[in-house]
Amino acid sequence: MAVHYPTDRPLVDSYGRHVTYLRISVTDRCDFRCTYCMGEDMTFLPKSEVLSFEEIRTIVSTFVARGVRKVRLTGGEPLVRRDIMKLIEALCQEHLLTGALEEVTLTTNGSQLARHAETLAGLGVKRVNVSLDTLDADKFAEITRRGRLPQVLDGIAAARSAGLAVKLNMVALKGVNEAEIVPMLDWAHSEGMELTLIEAMPLGDVALDRHDTHLSLREVRDRLAERYTLEPIAKRTGGPARYMRVAETGGTIGFITPLSHNFCESCNRVRLTCTGQLYMCLGQDDRVDLRRALREGGVTALDAALDAAMIAKPKGHDFVVDRQALAPAVARHMSVTGG
Ligand code: SAM
Ligand code: SF4
Repeated sequence: MAVHYPTDRPLVDSYGRHVTYLRISVTDRCDFRCTYCMGEDMTFLPKSEVLSFEEIRTIVSTFVARGVRKVRLTGGEPLVRRDIMKLIEALCQEHLLTGALEEVTLTTNGSQLARHAETLAGLGVKRVNVSLDTLDADKFAEITRRGRLPQVLDGIAAARSAGLAVKLNMVALKGVNEAEIVPMLDWAHSEGMELTLIEAMPLGDVALDRHDTHLSLREVRDRLAERYTLEPIAKRTGGPARYMRVAETGGTIGFITPLSHNFCESCNRVRLTCTGQLYMCLGQDDRVDLRRALREGGVTALDAALDAAMIAKPKGHDFVVDRQALAPAVARHMSVTGG
């Protein structure tokens, strides 16, 4: 199938990969403190360092003019940023309704979905990813440290009744929630939701022991294959996920294995932090300071910074969960870069 890049100045990196997908962390703040993501006592960035809505809109417009087709808002928790719906409304009106963007979507912990689901659907958002690692209320409280499971389940229900497709993201952790993968799959598929399992990544310094909790999704898939008939499907997103159809349920299960290298060659995405740093790879430290470019040189400098970013986009990442090296491969937390 021919790929259509509706711009004469597409963003193409040194390895020929087209960047068409932008993830934006709109805040590093969150109402949860998931053990694999954050420390108990997080110090968040002062608000002055965080991009304003105006700046985010300018950056998105610049990316859209260079052929970006999908924008995903993440965080931190995107729905806890004050007045976030105003930003989503502006992005949808400026780019989604005009057909410039195919999709505006978000990854959320679901805690605020109940109050925003209707509005999101009304603005043209079609689907959301909701992170849910367990269906056990006590374990949920343990993993998230501050979350309440019923609130998230209400959020998911509200999203679905508003007509949003919900995909569940579950970080698979050895000895923590591995026994809950099957119940989660059965529940998700019985409700018509996709489930994606995520292998935990060594990002940021957290209390959880990455080695003790590291669970290989290859192992998980082998175990699931003893129970279900898993059929490979062609669905590809340009990201690190591989999808299978579960014959018995008719549903889809995804496996995100960022520690393997098998996705880098098709990588189509870049990530913008809430302070305007553009990371070309989740697992590398190379970045371009878009906030500075924009504040000091305006849109022209911003546009030039995107070209610099394409030259700097690395071939692949360097994640290692090494028993000798306890330090995280990348010091920043997922909440800063955006998952
Ligand atoms: N707060 C929102 C949420 O939880 O969906 C959005 C931000 S969160 C950082 C995005 C995704 O990253 C979530 O699905 C979360 O489970 C995942 N995540 C966070 N830290 C991770 C890590 N160290 N390894 C793998 N996934 C991680
Ligand atoms: Fe917050 Fe999401 Fe990180 Fe959990 S995974 S602490 S919900 S940003």
